[in-house]
Amino acid sequence: MRVLGVGLFVMIFAALVGSSAAAAQDPLVVGVYDNAPKIFRQSDGGPAGFFPDLLKVLSERVDRPVDYRPCAWADCLELLERGEIDLMPDVAFSDDRAKRFQFGATPALYSWSYLYARPGLVLGALADLDGRRVAVLRDSIQAAKLRDLAAGNAWTLDLVATGSHAESFEAVRAGRADAAVVNHLFGEGREAGSGLIRAQFVFNASALYFAFAPGVPESLIASVDAELAQLQSDPGSPYFEAYQRWFSADDGFDPPDWLIAVGVALVVIGVGAVAASLVLRRRVEEATRTARRSSERLAEAQRLARMGNFTWTVGSSEVRWSDGMRHLLRVEDGEPVSLEDVVARFHHPDDNERVMAWLRNGVEAGADALGPEVYRLVRRTGEVIWVEANVKIERGRGGAVTIFGTCQDITSRVEMERALLDAKARAEQAAKAKSVFLASMSHEFRTPLNAIIGFSEIIQLSGADQLSAKQREQLSDIQTAAHQLYGLVTDVLELTHAEQMDFKINPVAMPLQRAVADACAQVRFLATRHGVEIVDRTAQAEEAQCLADPVRVRQVLVNLLSNAIKYNRPEGSVAIRFGETDPDKIRVCIEDTGQGIPEAQQAAIFNIFSRLQGQALVAGEGTGVGLTIAKSLVERMGGDIGVDSVVGEGSTFWCDFPRA
Ligand code: ADP
Repeated sequence: MRVLGVGLFVMIFAALVGSSAAAAQDPLVVGVYDNAPKIFRQSDGGPAGFFPDLLKVLSERVDRPVDYRPCAWADCLELLERGEIDLMPDVAFSDDRAKRFQFGATPALYSWSYLYARPGLVLGALADLDGRRVAVLRDSIQAAKLRDLAAGNAWTLDLVATGSHAESFEAVRAGRADAAVVNHLFGEGREAGSGLIRAQFVFNASALYFAFAPGVPESLIASVDAELAQLQSDPGSPYFEAYQRWFSADDGFDPPDWLIAVGVALVVIGVGAVAASLVLRRRVEEATRTARRSSERLAEAQRLARMGNFTWTVGSSEVRWSDGMRHLLRVEDGEPVSLEDVVARFHHPDDNERVMAWLRNGVEAGADALGPEVYRLVRRTGEVIWVEANVKIERGRGGAVTIFGTCQDITSRVEMERALLDAKARAEQAAKAKSVFLASMSHEFRTPLNAIIGFSEIIQLSGADQLSAKQREQLSDIQTAAHQLYGLVTDVLELTHAEQMDFKINPVAMPLQRAVADACAQVRFLATRHGVEIVDRTAQAEEAQCLADPVRVRQVLVNLLSNAIKYNRPEGSVAIRFGETDPDKIRVCIEDTGQGIPEAQQAAIFNIFSRLQGQALVAGEGTGVGLTIAKSLVERMGGDIGVDSVVGEGSTFWCDFPRA
């Protein structure tokens, strides 16, 4: 019974209930070509075969008449692409074809190919086709497959293109080809008496689909699909009647119904298994491709990041390295790496002991992860690189300990850090030398300045009556200039002292009010001289304890108060009060009624030697160093300093000290 033999590979699919209520329309034009028993033209020119029978049923079900247009296979496909025919019932799916046609979802038939050789030629495997002439249907999937195989295996194949499978058989019989490739349906129907010998293997199993022209509405394709699926789900349907009619040899045996049912069931199971294995194989191939792609990407990413990973099972001598690790150390792919190599050749001799102890101690201490650890590795080329390693320690049930780690090349970072440290050390050295120089210069200045000031005062006191008015004025200028220079030298000394690295600040909890009162007392004489009133509003406020060095706090406040007096207007005033700031700080504000500081210059006045333009009134009174010292001191005590000012109204200098 041929149903069982042939049917084992026929597809049965899930049932879908299709519908088609479309009104009678233009006929669906189907390409008819010579591929018996699937589809062919009879002597009267009419279509016959399995597909015309199937299409007749489907046409009624979707209420769409069918018309046939004869064409050769390759032409049929071109006409289909151009929309001159609407449907080809016998097309294997390929990505390339999916770009040219629309495919239904349900395979109409399963197919595979047989190879037929001329008598005398034995084909034991596909490779035996190398160097042969093979007849094959022009533009068919089999032809494409053969071409791929030949290219992939570097075979020479002389493909003899034919218009039909019958022509392919004929070409072998006539000696124009050594072998022919035809689909199994044609082969099984025609092999008897053909004189050709079938090879004992199958080739190119594929599903055959209805292919539709690009313009055919999707709704129609869906209806055909649904009807086809429903026909295939029913063993008694016209689909199987047509199948039996065209693909079963009539051997005069009329099987009982139960046998047909068993046969159909076997067909269903067998074909399902084939379909499932095809789908499965495709999935496995896809998964393999995806896995290969992602491992290539990982290797590439590791190379770009100049990193690699390694795995070592403690106690074993084998170490596994990723491609990235091999690239990092310039070790060839496939070259085995042992623990002995790592210890003796790849770990830097000065770091090896430390690295191995790091791992050993981590394992013994039961750690799950270690790192980062920085050490040197030696490349195969002898070059030394710095790496940063992190490891994960995994413990197996049997007590096996596996270390999985990553190494990243950080040579350039290490070199940069070293260069920065060198530069910092050099800069510190230079700053110290500058401070020492300035301090000793300033100190040396003070001795002659003291002499100038002292002697000019003696002249002023003892010989004033022998001097002319002009000379007395000149003497006064000498004294002013000498005092100013003395002030500058003192400030510079103070600043260099503040900048020195060993300058000590001793913060203690101290009442701020006390420092404010002391500072006020210190500047009271200056205030009287300038006719400026000082109002200390902090005295009435709640006691505020800050964490600072009392001597330095007073120094800062004296500086700010002196400025507030010096740069005030006559009859002006200075008020000291607490202000709003962060809860962990205390703000002291020194408010004056002077000419104010333009916003654009407010930041600059804290720079050394920076003085405001146009303060003619107080010219000669300052050096532009006081605020720089104040800022340095406040910041070293963990505080902050700043100014708010309105030109014409006055300035408020503020200092924040850490709260005790
Ligand atoms: P000095 O007072 O010795 O010049 P400072 O560093 O203390 O140096 O001040 C820098 C400059 O900032 C001063 O020269 C002055 O122009 C300006 N300045 C400081 N305090 C005030 C203030 N309260 N009002 C106006 N200008 C001020």
